[in-house]
Amino acid sequence: MKKRLPKVVVLGGGVAGMSAAHELAERGFEVSVYEARTTPGGKARSMDVKGSGIDGRKDLPGEHGFRFFPKFYKHVTDTMKRIPYGDNRHGVFDNLIEGTRLGLAFNDRAMLPFITEFPESIRDLKVLYQSLFENHLGLTAEEAAHYGGKLYELASSCELRRYLDYQRISWWDFIEADKQSEQFKRIFVGLSRILVAAKAQEANACTIGTVGAELMLDMVTPGGSADRLLNGPTNEVWIYPWYDYLNSIGVQFNRDAPVKAIHCDNGAITGITVVMDGQEQLVTGDCFISALPVEVMAGLVNEELISADPLLGKLKTLAESVEWMNGIQFYLNEELPLIHGHIICMDSPWALTLVSQKQFWPNTDLAEYGNGNVKGVLSVDVSDWEAPGPLFGKPAMKCSAEEIRQEVWQQLKDHFNHGSDVLHDGLLEHWFLDEDIQFPNPHEATNMEPLLVNRVHTWDLRPNAYTAIPNLYLASDYVRTNTDLATMEGANEAARRAVNAIIDYYEIKADKCRIWEMYEFELLGLWQRNDKSRWQEGLPWNGKIVG
Ligand SMILES: Cc1cc2nc3c(=O)[nH]c(=O)nc-3n(C[C@H](O)[C@H](O)[C@H](O)COP(=O)(O)OP(=O)(O)OC[C@H]3O[C@@H](n4cnc5c(N)ncnc54)[C@H](O)[C@@H]3O)c2cc1C
Repeated sequence: MKKRLPKVVVLGGGVAGMSAAHELAERGFEVSVYEARTTPGGKARSMDVKGSGIDGRKDLPGEHGFRFFPKFYKHVTDTMKRIPYGDNRHGVFDNLIEGTRLGLAFNDRAMLPFITEFPESIRDLKVLYQSLFENHLGLTAEEAAHYGGKLYELASSCELRRYLDYQRISWWDFIEADKQSEQFKRIFVGLSRILVAAKAQEANACTIGTVGAELMLDMVTPGGSADRLLNGPTNEVWIYPWYDYLNSIGVQFNRDAPVKAIHCDNGAITGITVVMDGQEQLVTGDCFISALPVEVMAGLVNEELISADPLLGKLKTLAESVEWMNGIQFYLNEELPLIHGHIICMDSPWALTLVSQKQFWPNTDLAEYGNGNVKGVLSVDVSDWEAPGPLFGKPAMKCSAEEIRQEVWQQLKDHFNHGSDVLHDGLLEHWFLDEDIQFPNPHEATNMEPLLVNRVHTWDLRPNAYTAIPNLYLASDYVRTNTDLATMEGANEAARRAVNAIIDYYEIKADKCRIWEMYEFELLGLWQRNDKSRWQEGLPWNGKIVG
């Protein structure tokens, strides 16, 4: 007789929860998802700017933060290929579009464009890393060589050294930033913020350096751009088609269904309490995947769970490693592309990164949204909420929404208006601050969805996708993965690992979800193998093949 597949309950419907449901339902499992919000997608969702659509037009498309899919992503993009979308051959994946430039904007000079794909093959990785930073950035040749050398050191180190040593040192210390010039700090601290809200002084060298080295490598290797983004508002071209697909393959997706408690008895999960239609309900199942953000899961971990798996107790400490990173959008009456890709505002106290969206949204007619006058959207991520802004002298956390708008707009002007008013107030039709920033308190504002930052020593606090409780699995971006970065890619990989662990535990005859090695730096295999011997002998990295 065919074995009955376990009934799986998924807590949370962000990228991790949706990915887990997707993998399970395609393998014939009975799956139900419980998501607190009405909109699926979690931090990756886009959101309507409520009340902005007038005269029958749609509300403007707002975002929690812009969506960047670097070339090295393999897991989330693989899932996207299995989400049908119109006539697209590769489903939603075909909705990814390449940005061809990375802009570094400064407050004292014109923006510097960098090509995000080089056509030639590479001859010498070390030299190429260095050449990226030569001349244009006001760095000395020695400084450029030092940074290139550090990226090279990281990429040519063995995995053991990266995970066991570099997780324990900050990126700042690894690149010896203290000994470098102010210009060096200005450039390389800014660069570490492209993907996450990470502060170079706090984030670990393994995570930041590896991602940095990979991004640079992707910029200098043929085969597509390092920068990819969606060709329309996220919900329209990815999240809603995904949600529809999950429903079509039998996933029971409950929205407006916050999980209030996880019950554990005799070392096993017996059910969860969920609020639906204003009523508390006990939901049971054979096994449970928690795809909740770390700070929410930490709040649900109780004594029973900790006594069944003491490692779950560490989540409370891990949850202290979240930072704020949230989006603000400016809707303009001109398209204003600025550059064909993402931009880092290198001198912005609030660590702004942005993209001018409309150029990547060929099928989106903005005249159908808002007041009908919008032609361009600047989507900005604010990654430092604690540094004082130049206008009000206060950190973003302590500003009102209007003060945040004024500060961000001013910091953008400072980076783009060199000699002419590229940005001026006459362009502004509307603006929107992420709905997660709520006012007031405990500061002036509260952030409903902070983001995990890979700080020094946090690897030891991060759990695997399986736990010591045989029917509890963990997904979400804080779980240990090859990706090792709180991103959509990390969340998707974590979900795959949780599903694989279920397949293993219940001895189910089903294909495992594919997991990729990340950041292989294959070209440096010889150096890495040599470094592994050195690491095992307790010797430092020396960057040579023999010795
Ligand atoms: C501003 C910003 C920009 C970003 N940009 C990028 C980017 O460009 N590229 C990239 O790869 N990553 C980016 N990230 C990171 C990425 O969005 C996240 O790491 C990823 O989406 C996390 O997915 P998740 O499913 O693990 O968690 P979440 O997205 O947090 O999903 C968890 C889900 O659980 C739900 N939930 C919470 N509490 C409960 C409860 N009690 N009961 C039931 N459900 C609950 C939430 O509503 C949510 O839907 C960005 C993050 C931010 C904050």
